[in-house]
Amino acid sequence: MARLSQLTDLKGVGPKLAGQLEKLQIRTLADLFFHLPFRYEDRSRVTPVGGVQPMRPAVIQGEIKGSTVLFGKRRSLLVKVQDHTGVVSLRFYHFNAAQKNQLRTGATIRCYGEPRRGASGLEFYHPEYRILEDGTDLPLEPSLTPVYPATDGISQQRLRLLHEQALQHLQHDDVDLVDMLPAQWLQQWRLPTLKEALLFLHNPPRDTQLELLESGQHPAQRRLILEELLAHQLSLFKIRAQVQADQAPAIRPSSSLRQQLLAQLPFSPTAAQQRVTQEIENDIQQPYPMLRLVQGDVGSGKTLVAAMAACDVLEAGFQVALMAPTEILAEQHLQNLSAWFEPLGIRMGWLAGKVKGKAREQSLADIASGAAQLVVGTHALFQDDVHFARLGLIIIDEQHRFGVHQRLSLREKGEHQGLQPHQLIMTATPIPRTLAMSAYADLDTSVIDELPPGRSPITTVAISDQRRAEVIERVNQACAEGAQAYWVCTLIEESEALQCQAAENTAQELTAALPHLRVGLVHGRMKAAEKAAVMASFKAHELDLLVATTVIEVGVDVPNSSLMIIENPERLGLAQLHQLRGRVGRGAAKSHCVLLYKAPLSFVSKQRIQVMRDSQDGFYIAEQDLQIRGPGELLGTRQTGLQMLRVADLQRDGDLLPQVRDMAQQIWSQHPQAVEPLIQRWLGDAERFASV
Ligand code: ADP
Ligand code: MG
Repeated sequence: MARLSQLTDLKGVGPKLAGQLEKLQIRTLADLFFHLPFRYEDRSRVTPVGGVQPMRPAVIQGEIKGSTVLFGKRRSLLVKVQDHTGVVSLRFYHFNAAQKNQLRTGATIRCYGEPRRGASGLEFYHPEYRILEDGTDLPLEPSLTPVYPATDGISQQRLRLLHEQALQHLQHDDVDLVDMLPAQWLQQWRLPTLKEALLFLHNPPRDTQLELLESGQHPAQRRLILEELLAHQLSLFKIRAQVQADQAPAIRPSSSLRQQLLAQLPFSPTAAQQRVTQEIENDIQQPYPMLRLVQGDVGSGKTLVAAMAACDVLEAGFQVALMAPTEILAEQHLQNLSAWFEPLGIRMGWLAGKVKGKAREQSLADIASGAAQLVVGTHALFQDDVHFARLGLIIIDEQHRFGVHQRLSLREKGEHQGLQPHQLIMTATPIPRTLAMSAYADLDTSVIDELPPGRSPITTVAISDQRRAEVIERVNQACAEGAQAYWVCTLIEESEALQCQAAENTAQELTAALPHLRVGLVHGRMKAAEKAAVMASFKAHELDLLVATTVIEVGVDVPNSSLMIIENPERLGLAQLHQLRGRVGRGAAKSHCVLLYKAPLSFVSKQRIQVMRDSQDGFYIAEQDLQIRGPGELLGTRQTGLQMLRVADLQRDGDLLPQVRDMAQQIWSQHPQAVEPLIQRWLGDAERFASV
């Protein structure tokens, strides 16, 4: 007999039901097996009434000792049930006369539900129940009852029956489902085979410890979790292998440009900057593209690392492109890099959305001819009419805002005579190590784990906006003593117009309250030239106080500013708060950050604010962020598919990751035939999506 593989191979499944199952992402028989229960009910035993515990679902059976309609705030029917160990209540808010009659004193009842503490002690609210006619006995379930994610049109019961049928076939080995993990591993890790795991999880025997299943710790679950994480890891290995199959210019370290650059700087690179630069140089000497992620906290000096790498590539006669996520940041890079590189005879290029008309044509021509050697820009660098003459290195700043797609499309753009550019991605949002290993397995990572000397710690306090006047006075004081301050207005990001309006109002309010201070305003709706002018006068200390929207989040560098007020910090994530705060503490003066929140704070906001007060370490903050928000949000737009995990949970199963990585490496080299099927099983379409 041919093995079953289609859903329609099951009895009772026609096109209609198959269509409905598709809503649950169940398209094949294998999908059905991997559609796992999200919880279980134990209807396999009767719990003595005296042993019932709050919040623990249970089956009870006993005699009805009375049923009363109560007229409290809401009318309800209270039914007392007794067995030889005690009495417990059932409570119904919705009931009809027939029901009331059925629940008569003296009848024997069996019910299933979750007891809670109520007015009459432990109560079952709206339990499922059956009245047992005299002498009859209802059988109990032989195993734990699975509860599946369901949807309109497909009931639990339907799903259970389908699974029962499918499991019968699995039992008899006549379905198309291959165990791809090597048997010796399973032995070594004491894990069940795929067949054992699936049979178990869809139908756990009644003596299974529910707690084990609920916490995802059962070996049958761990087996599948491991397999899913492996599949993800392998999909990233695959992307990486695809990239490394490309060719790139092998670039020798710069012999003079780098020295000239460093010679004109008033400081020398930190040990961490040197180490990371060395790692980059090792990569770009290879004849295939580098894909390296540099993580470095705000202010750790990522720009210098990028510049040192650029020296090698420029000196070898290739172009370098640096892309930033916002115009403000791109402009700042252009300014800094021009100041560093123009004196060395390097010609700069510039491309952003606002570069239009003749200027844009000129830019495009210079990029295409190679006259522009170091090109800075925004995502405008992606556009179709941008062609590089000889692009050797792409540097992407603040990667978390770029999707993996953009990153890959830029790489294609850079192809020239069969050579791909090297890629360096810099992010100030540190990714916790465990997560980085999984989410960025297609990249090599470097960490700048040291700040340049001379930074002073920032004191962070949280103050309710009822004490706004005090905070304004504090700004007054600080500025009177010669410091400069930021006042950041935040609103939900979707509405830039409102955000700018809020900043304008605040600027007016502060100007009125502090008439002797020079107050400036910068927000996203101003023309770039206006923004730049305001930033320049703040930098030159022609302004004392800068009111801003979160546009100043990235890149702005004014060492004399030592006070930052962040309004409504509860609206921002930890990563963003950390970035914002990084604008102060850049000079020698002691710096302060005031989180001016609106009470009452939610639990999560309180947690976040506490983290900000506790620490200034980007990695610690990221770890906490992971705890609070979960990995999906932290990874942002990056479509690794890790947000789409089916059985694994990175927070719960993070301990498996190091092992997963080792195993993935072994599969990759020793069982290559398993790679593709594993990826297909767990990622299917998602994988294609991620590697576009
Ligand atoms: P980020 O990593 O946040 O992008 P930047 O590259 O903007 O940091 O650097 C922050 C500031 O530190 C800049 O003013 C930069 O010139 C300065 N800086 C960078 N490296 C060093 C160093 N080794 N010693 C002293 N200052 C440095
Ligand atoms: Mg930077």
